[in-house]
Amino acid sequence: MTVAAAPIVDCEGLVHIYRTADLEVVALQGLDLELQPGETIAIAGRSGSGKTTLMNILAGAEPPTAGRARVGGHDLARMAEPERERYRRQVVGYVWQHSQVNIWPELSALENVQVPMLSGGVPGREHSRRGRWLLEAMGLAGLAGRRPPQLSGGESQRLALAVALANQPALLLADEPTAELDSTTARGLLADLANLLQETRTSAIMVTHDRQLERFVDRVVQIRDGRTSLETRWRETEAGPAADELVIMDRAGRLQLPRALVEKLGLGERVRVHVEDDHLRIYPS
Ligand code: ADP
Ligand code: MG
Repeated sequence: MTVAAAPIVDCEGLVHIYRTADLEVVALQGLDLELQPGETIAIAGRSGSGKTTLMNILAGAEPPTAGRARVGGHDLARMAEPERERYRRQVVGYVWQHSQVNIWPELSALENVQVPMLSGGVPGREHSRRGRWLLEAMGLAGLAGRRPPQLSGGESQRLALAVALANQPALLLADEPTAELDSTTARGLLADLANLLQETRTSAIMVTHDRQLERFVDRVVQIRDGRTSLETRWRETEAGPAADELVIMDRAGRLQLPRALVEKLGLGERVRVHVEDDHLRIYPS
């Protein structure tokens, strides 16, 4: 009998509501997401669809309003402050769009990578060796002594990723990590990152608008209106890369059909469903 490994990320029915004085925004409306250890995914979706909200919850920055969110056995909805603190230092690593947020301008690249280790799970004698290894893996081998103001945009983002991976997190979170880079720089960075993630068996969730990022992850999950809707997997075929696109069904059996399809077929609020032997047909009513 084979036993499936426990998922590293397990979200079910995740709901998040922002409340301001006169407004309530439901940013996540029952989102399901599962990641296996070592798996990497990209999250895509229009602006305002809830991507950053999901990343903030997974980063332990704020608890969800309702639903289940577990990462590496930690219950993000119920963590008390000391556990939350430890979770942020040792279980997840994160990089936001503006890499400057993650790095100290007055420290060298090598010192930057060592900062998280001071409070993490890496033994002291390992700091320098591991720091150099990470810089090398992220293509910064010759730049260990440079300070961030002396690095290019792409190099800063590479450094931010090395810093995020310093404590061997089980899960890397990156919100639009290549948004400010040109496409050649972005591709080089993503290739190095994908190798490093694979070598260290680190899971990752990356938010992106960048279609080329899709080829460096195991699958791409589209979010629409605070829920997962479509999933794309790329595979190599003899004729070149091909995309398998699947509509995601949640655990309650709900499908979110692509908007373009709904409009094209003129599907309204009710549809007619015909059950065949091994498939369904859906018609406008
Ligand atoms: P995305 O990253 O996909 O662009 P967000 O998660 O940032 O989406 O936002 C989802 C929804 O929640 C949007 O309607 C946004 O306006 C709203 N929202 C995000 N952050 C806040 C906040 N701090 N207060 C109120 N509303 C917010
Ligand atoms: Mg966002």
